Amino acid sequence: NRKYRKTLIAGNWKMNKTPTQTKAFMTELKGLLPKGRWCDIALCVPAVCIPAAVRAMRETRVAIGAENCNAHTSGAYTGEIAADMLVDAGCKYVILGHSERRAMGETDADVNAKLHTALDAGLIPIVCCGETLAQRESGVTEEWITMQIKLALAGVPEEKIRRIVIAYEPIWAIGTGETATPEQAEEVCQHIRTIIRKRFGSKNARAMTILYGGSMNEKNAFELLAQPDIDGGLIGGASLVPEKFVRIIEDAN
Ligand code: PGA
Repeated sequence: NRKYRKTLIAGNWKMNKTPTQTKAFMTELKGLLPKGRWCDIALCVPAVCIPAAVRAMRETRVAIGAENCNAHTSGAYTGEIAADMLVDAGCKYVILGHSERRAMGETDADVNAKLHTALDAGLIPIVCCGETLAQRESGVTEEWITMQIKLALAGVPEEKIRRIVIAYEPIWAIGTGETATPEQAEEVCQHIRTIIRKRFGSKNARAMTILYGGSMNEKNAFELLAQPDIDGGLIGGASLVPEKFVRIIEDAN
């Protein structure tokens, strides 16, 4: 199945590292990156770290991404950052709808509006979805994920669906050290591919990159990435340490 789609290992730094620390991290990472043909690699970093990250990784195959963008293209939105600005700064990816942002009030409608803006700007959105522990225990995970995906992708035309990456991140596994089992993660990622198949056809479903996120690290990545519908990872804590991030990249090949 992997031959139909790209594997992506993406880091999510969240609110960690200064521009100075970014430069040091990237220098170290460059020294550790395996030579040869590897999967797609991205690091999504705080907005102020983007210039340092882009500068450091210019001659490498590591792409830089942002962790959020605004739904509007410009205007009176103090403190916000537009998708165009991210592109101009050298970003290729943007994480949208992370559960930590949803917890701060971001709605499905917001995620959808940002998705359209990001696509128009030429960014590759990494759209996050995931259930809480209470939802999992109540047996509503599939319904919840279906709703999140349908609302996030509302109005996306068929020709643009391949520009989107989806990340399944069970909230109970994020930053907790409690990873979903490979079977649990595979079950939901497979379900996401089924939703895409029903709406966008089997060719697009087969081509879509679906990531797992939530305490993925250098110890559990291999087993998770071995699942047929898990095409990569969105990695928080373990992406802050060059050695750990590189070991996950090696497991993805
Ligand atoms: P974690 O974060 O790997 O630290 O659990 C993943 C994420 O929130 O994207």
